[in-house]
Amino acid sequence: MPLTKRAAPFVAFAIFAFQPVAQAAEELVVYSARIEKLVKPLVNAYEKETGTHIKLLTGKEGPLLERLKAEGAKTPADLLITVDAGNLWQAEQSGLLAKVDSKVLNDNIPAHLRDPDGQWYGLSVRARTIIYNTRKVKPGDLSTYEALGDAKWKGRLCLRSSKKVYNQSLVAMMIAELGEAKSEEIVKSWVKNLATPPFSDDENLLDAMAAGQCDVGIVNSYYYGRLIRKNPKAPMGIFWPNQNDRGVHVNVSGAGVTKHAKHPEAAVKFLEWLSSTKAQNLFADANLEFPVNPKVKPDPLVAAWGSFKQDSISVAEAGKLQAKAVMLMDRAGYK
Ligand code: FE
Repeated sequence: MPLTKRAAPFVAFAIFAFQPVAQAAEELVVYSARIEKLVKPLVNAYEKETGTHIKLLTGKEGPLLERLKAEGAKTPADLLITVDAGNLWQAEQSGLLAKVDSKVLNDNIPAHLRDPDGQWYGLSVRARTIIYNTRKVKPGDLSTYEALGDAKWKGRLCLRSSKKVYNQSLVAMMIAELGEAKSEEIVKSWVKNLATPPFSDDENLLDAMAAGQCDVGIVNSYYYGRLIRKNPKAPMGIFWPNQNDRGVHVNVSGAGVTKHAKHPEAAVKFLEWLSSTKAQNLFADANLEFPVNPKVKPDPLVAAWGSFKQDSISVAEAGKLQAKAVMLMDRAGYK
């Protein structure tokens, strides 16, 4: 008798432990505009932890959205992962995403870094901030994004192309907070200060700055991180502007459950897991970004840049005002 008594709990445990295997494995299809290298470790960890089988398809953000649109109700995609609130907003506007109501997501992700309507959620944070050449500029010379239009920066400023969604979002947020007229004035003053025509990407811009072609510029924080990781002695510094007013412009990479998901519950579970303390470092550190979940600390290299006040306006504004931002930059002669 004593044996049976002792065996009973073991049997119960064994059934519980084998249940996920006994059930048909849960399936999930993820479309990701984030490159495979950044997403695959999360997919692997989640598959291992839950037994869910995830099919991952990666591609450039534009073609991936077009594919989702073309597939319509027949799409196999359950979850879309992409970068920039401007792109997530576009996906929402195109009717590609579904509203999700989750206490876990709402608790893990600050309100300004997710869609107010629950159709997409930020999962990592990038600051679009000021980088400077430490041989030519002291932090005390810097203050705000606006001040990069001051006459003292004539011929010293580097910017990336206005065609990139990152800059469209930056200007859209300025419109939201400063109004269109003031924002146009600022963008015009930047254009006047350009050292060279705008760059095709943030990396080229930083290389040009390291080579002394310009002294200040605006880039996403993780590009600076990559440069410093590769070359810790590079004469480059990171500066947090607008600390006495609206704060640093931040954006997200994030995800939304698709409108025609075949496994919507599994997609929500995966999304919730991505926002958890368990997954957040894996998601953010791979690209030297900030975790979106405030309970999670960034990678030490990123943490070394110090804490800063971030702009707390909803990143959804970046999408809403994107078209206005594009027209404004065109009027201002920002190529
Ligand atoms: Fe990027």
